[in-house]
Amino acid sequence: MSDSTIFAVSRADFDHVMLGNYNPAEMVPVRGAGSRVWDQSGKEYVDFAGGIAVTCLGHCHPKLVTALTDQASKLWHLSNVVTNEPALRLAKKLCDATFAERVYFCNSGAEANEAAFKLARRYGNVGFGPHKNEIISFYKSFHGRTLFTVSVGGQAKYTEGFEPVPGGIKHVDFNDLAAFESAISDNTCAVVMEPIQGEGGIISADPTFAKRVRELSDKHQALLIYDEVQSGAGRTGDLYAYMGLGVTPDVLTTAKGLGGGFPIGAMLTTEKVGAHLPFGTHGSTYGGNPLACAVAEAVMDEISLASVMDGVKVRSAHLMSALQAIGDKYEVFGKIRGQGLLVGAPMAEAWKGRAKEFTVAGLEHGVWCLVAGPDVVRFAPSLIISDDELADGLDRFEAAVEQMVNQQIG
Ligand code: PLP
Repeated sequence: MSDSTIFAVSRADFDHVMLGNYNPAEMVPVRGAGSRVWDQSGKEYVDFAGGIAVTCLGHCHPKLVTALTDQASKLWHLSNVVTNEPALRLAKKLCDATFAERVYFCNSGAEANEAAFKLARRYGNVGFGPHKNEIISFYKSFHGRTLFTVSVGGQAKYTEGFEPVPGGIKHVDFNDLAAFESAISDNTCAVVMEPIQGEGGIISADPTFAKRVRELSDKHQALLIYDEVQSGAGRTGDLYAYMGLGVTPDVLTTAKGLGGGFPIGAMLTTEKVGAHLPFGTHGSTYGGNPLACAVAEAVMDEISLASVMDGVKVRSAHLMSALQAIGDKYEVFGKIRGQGLLVGAPMAEAWKGRAKEFTVAGLEHGVWCLVAGPDVVRFAPSLIISDDELADGLDRFEAAVEQMVNQQIG
C-alpha cells in the first residue's frame, strides 16, 4: 500500500485509533458549502454549530479558498526567524480596527491566552515586584486546555487530575461586584474575563459590572484581559464584543473566527503593555504562519464590512425570536439569551440536564447545534448564513424538539 492510498474509514475506527478524550457524533462530515455539510452517506445537515464559533463565513467561502490557495503556491512556512507579508498586513488590519498597537500571533485560543497570562505575570513581577502575581478570573469561564489556561478557567472539572496546578489564581462569581471588589488588590496583576461567557452557558457581562471591573483594574494597576476567542471576529455583531460593551481592555485574545476555520490565534495589546514581553521572552514556531495569516486577512476584510455586521444583528433577531417561539410552544426552553450569533437556549426546569439530547435529535433531523454545558443548547452559525439556510435549520430543529417532546409524552 503506497502512502497516498485512500482507504475507507468510518466513525467506528475512531475508537481504535484516536485517543478517547473526545466522543464525536456518529456522522462523519466529508464536505461543506456555506452553512450546509454532508456526511459520508450523503446526508445533508444545516450547520448551526459553525465549528464551535469558528467558521464565521461558512464552509469553503470563495474568498477564503482563494486566499488560501493563492498563498499555498507562494509560501507556507518561514518561522519567526523572519517576518512575512501576510502576517504584517494582518497585524496592521487588527491594529487599525481595534485599540491594539501590538500583535502576537499563535495558533489557537489557548495559546493566545497563555501568552496573555504570561504577559500579565511578567508585567507584575518585573514592573512592580514578585508580590504582584495574582490573576483574578470568573467561575464558569473557559480559557483553553493548557495547564495554565485550565487553571485560570473557572471550571474545576478541567483541572481535576492534573494537579498541582499553577498558583496565584483567584476565582469569583461572574457579574458579582461585591465578590470582585473584595478579591482585587495591589497584588493583582491581571483580571481575565470573557465579555460573554461561551462554554459557561452564554452569559453576558453586565455593562455596569464590566465598567466597574475596568475602573478597579486601573485603580490597582492590574491589566484587564478580555478573552474574545469565542465572542470576537464579528460573532456578537461588533467586530469585538468590547466595542459593544463600551469597555476597552489592555489585552485581548482572539482565535476561532479569526481564521474562519484555519488555525490561528492572536494576542492584541498596546505598545506600553506589550513592552513587557521583550525579545526572547515568548514565542511559537508556527505563530504568524503565512497560510494562516493570509486566510485571516481575508476573514478580516470580509467581516469588517458594515453589511456583514448589520447582517449579524438581523439574523440574530430572527434566530432568537424563532427559538423563543419553539421553546414556548413545546415548553422546553426558558428565555433565549446571547448576543449576535452566539445564542443560548436554556433548558426549562423539566428538561434540566438534557441539552445534549437536543443536539443528538437535531442531527437525526439534519441540523447541527451545540451545547454550552448540560443546560444550554448553543447556536453559533456562520455570520452570513442565508435566509434559506436559517429557515431550513429552524424547521429541522423544531422537528427534533417536537420528536423529543412526543417521546417524553409517549
Ligand atoms: N477561550 C474561549 C473563550 C473559548 O471559548 C475557547 C474555546 O472554546 C478557548 C479560549 C480555547 O481556544 P482553543 O480551543 O482554540 O485553544
